[in-house]
Amino acid sequence: MLRFDPTVLALPFFESHHRDLALNVSDWLAGPAGSDIDAITRDADPKVVGRKLTRLLGQADWLRFVVPRAGDSGQPKLDVRSMCLLREAFASYHDLLDFSFSIQGLGCAAAGLYGDVARFNQFLAASASGEMLGSFAISEPEVGSNLAAAALEARLVDGRYVLNGVKTWVSYGNIADVHCVLVRTGEGPGAMGLSLLLVPADTPGLTIAQDIALIAPRAFATLNFSNCEVAADQLVGVPGMGFKYALQILDIYRVTVAAAAIGFCRKALRVAGQWAKSRRIGDEFLFDMQMTKSKLADMAVYLDATSLLVARAAWELDTRQGKDISQRDLSRHISIAKLFGTDGAQQVVDDAVQIMGAYGVVKDAEVENLYRQIRLLRIYEGTSEIQRLIIANNLNFKS
Ligand SMILES: Cc1cc2nc3c(=O)[nH]c(=O)nc-3n(C[C@H](O)[C@H](O)[C@H](O)COP(=O)(O)OP(=O)(O)OC[C@H]3O[C@@H](n4cnc5c(N)ncnc54)[C@H](O)[C@@H]3O)c2cc1C
Repeated sequence: MLRFDPTVLALPFFESHHRDLALNVSDWLAGPAGSDIDAITRDADPKVVGRKLTRLLGQADWLRFVVPRAGDSGQPKLDVRSMCLLREAFASYHDLLDFSFSIQGLGCAAAGLYGDVARFNQFLAASASGEMLGSFAISEPEVGSNLAAAALEARLVDGRYVLNGVKTWVSYGNIADVHCVLVRTGEGPGAMGLSLLLVPADTPGLTIAQDIALIAPRAFATLNFSNCEVAADQLVGVPGMGFKYALQILDIYRVTVAAAAIGFCRKALRVAGQWAKSRRIGDEFLFDMQMTKSKLADMAVYLDATSLLVARAAWELDTRQGKDISQRDLSRHISIAKLFGTDGAQQVVDDAVQIMGAYGVVKDAEVENLYRQIRLLRIYEGTSEIQRLIIANNLNFKS
């Protein structure tokens, strides 16, 4: 079963290797791997599930798509269209499969894109195989949307950084082997004084302060750094550039979040549509009622619109960034995809629950799971409000 809309894949935004990838990942999910994922996700502990799914993704070689590789210019890059296709497929199968894929990518993106390749080669190889897990630790108790205010201090003392402070809401923070941490190194004020540092999880002075339970379970933690010493060569790229690096990584991942939303919604439409076709209300099937058709039609419109917005933004990131598109246009397109894709997904899943009536709110019914899972997407990688600010700030009123 192809887990994509072939008419979208046929568009010139995609190349033949993307179409092959779409077929391959669909086949993979339909084969024995599907049963492995089903077995793994029956475990109630999200930490165990997270570790096993990441390993499975590594063994199947899917994680190489989130580890940056040298592009035509020799500079490391990611193929955002491939990442989007994979997230769409994984999300349509199980949200933790998608989550494991994306968190592993976030954990190693900075090292691969901006770090010293020789220095971080081993970490990147182990990330691609799923043997090592990463996390991207940027939020703090007082710092979420306002990332430039990150306060976790990293003081350079005798060639080592000494870290003091707290990171929170860290996905896979309690199972990662290495954390990519946004720290204040103080090269300049505000955003100009931040850097990214790779911190092995077993570094003395770093403790998991707290596991956090969410409405859609996943491994999630607060990290406490107390006189935690890290070698200076663990710093990624140029000191003081951490904020810029983090925003560039978030730009890429924002588009992929919208792609994941498509995967969730494809599942919602399939489940609700099949239900409507088989559920009798009096003499009719639910599907035959106009208000049901109206909901299903809106879902289909959402899927097409989001697919096109994601394809545009991903294609621009892959082929036009730094060449023939302004950063303002690109940022606006990325945020439009994220905002429309994740806000719209909420309505799609809500409609699917409504079509199923009481059966839709039974604990662990497919759409009940989706209802809880989809809510998270409007918050991480920049909230919907932040996307609106970016869109408005990058509008062009001249044309
Ligand atoms: C599922 C999930 C996974 C996550 N994974 C990670 C992770 O791996 N690593 C990590 O570091 N963090 C992670 N986070 C944290 C996430 O990045 C933050 O929750 C997010 O940036 C928002 O920050 P906040 O929660 O502190 O909300 P706040 O920044 O306090 O915002 C609260 C509300 O105010 C609104 N708001 C903020 N500023 C403005 C403004 N200027 N104008 C209008 N409204 C505004 C926001 O949109 C929001 O609705 C994750 C969160 C979730 C839910």
